[in-house]
Amino acid sequence: MNLAKFPRRGYVTAPTPIEPLPHLSKSLGGKVNLWMKRDDLLPGTAGGNKTRKLDFCIADALKQGADTVITCGAVQSNHCRLTLAWAVKEGMPCHLVLEERVKGSFKPEASGNNFLFDLLGVAGITVVPGGTNMMEAMQAVAERLRASGRKPYIIPGGASNPIGATGYVACAQETQEQLFHMGLAIDCMVVPSGSAGTHSGIVVGMRGCNANIPVVGINVSRTKEAQEQLVRKLSGETAERVGVRGGIPDDDVTCFGDYVGAGYSLPTEGMVEAVRLLASQEAVLLDPVYSGKAMAGCIDLVRKGYFPEGSNVLFLHTGGSPALYAYRDVLASGYDAERNG
Ligand SMILES: *Cc1c(COP(=O)(O)O)cnc(C)c1O
Repeated sequence: MNLAKFPRRGYVTAPTPIEPLPHLSKSLGGKVNLWMKRDDLLPGTAGGNKTRKLDFCIADALKQGADTVITCGAVQSNHCRLTLAWAVKEGMPCHLVLEERVKGSFKPEASGNNFLFDLLGVAGITVVPGGTNMMEAMQAVAERLRASGRKPYIIPGGASNPIGATGYVACAQETQEQLFHMGLAIDCMVVPSGSAGTHSGIVVGMRGCNANIPVVGINVSRTKEAQEQLVRKLSGETAERVGVRGGIPDDDVTCFGDYVGAGYSLPTEGMVEAVRLLASQEAVLLDPVYSGKAMAGCIDLVRKGYFPEGSNVLFLHTGGSPALYAYRDVLASGYDAERNG
């Protein structure tokens, strides 16, 4: 694939590390070697996967002469935080449309990403009820801005269109190159699957390089069937954009819908266990909405024997740790401290 022909801003300055997770692997029985691709360490305020996608999306915005960015997400959206952060770097105002997917969940005084929207100097926030057509809501904001002389550019939720997903095609290439240098043959890659740009990009990048590395997506909001359909559609469109001949076979897309729990962003026992395990055993901060649930899925698949003994499994850490601070009540243990003096 010749990805160099697509405009990008150069936000991703170096490959993110691939690290072993020896303590976690051992505590899960030692039959599978777990590894982690640290996209939580990408550049951009507090890091995370949206930087790879925005690298291409914001380049497109500038190419089209935009001077203002509009995007959307949930009330604790990492994507909104990173879009705003890169817009700040580019000197562009950024407007956010936040969807209250859980009724009553938007609180102006909330911690986590919501607090960072304020610190980073968001130009405007519009809160809409769950189920709202987000593209229409963003177009309404764009109309208003155009009427006042601005040139707004709309980035879809999660930056998950073929332009944004190209960032994860590049990530798949980067990962294969690193694994070659490390002499590490992985048997499977596990990724969180939300608005689907990350999962789709990785699938297209693996197919485009003939890597023969299966990719497993762990859903954070949808059923298996609905998510697989979404990932197949975006993978097909992305493959066409980057020139992967023959498209993406349906079998390249596998999702697990068993780890969503009661719904998007709602805590599960598995998520709490995964967040606490990774922090206490590997000093890695996951997040409650995406990487925590995805790791809960990965841990369960290891326990169930889904990966053959001796497998090397690479988990993609997509970031999101600022949201931890908005979930303290469900994650904290309430430990006892000893007071001396
Ligand atoms: C957005 C996000 C994801 C999901 O990526 P998609 O491309 O939307 O599927 C995973 N983890 C974190 C921390 C995110 O912010």
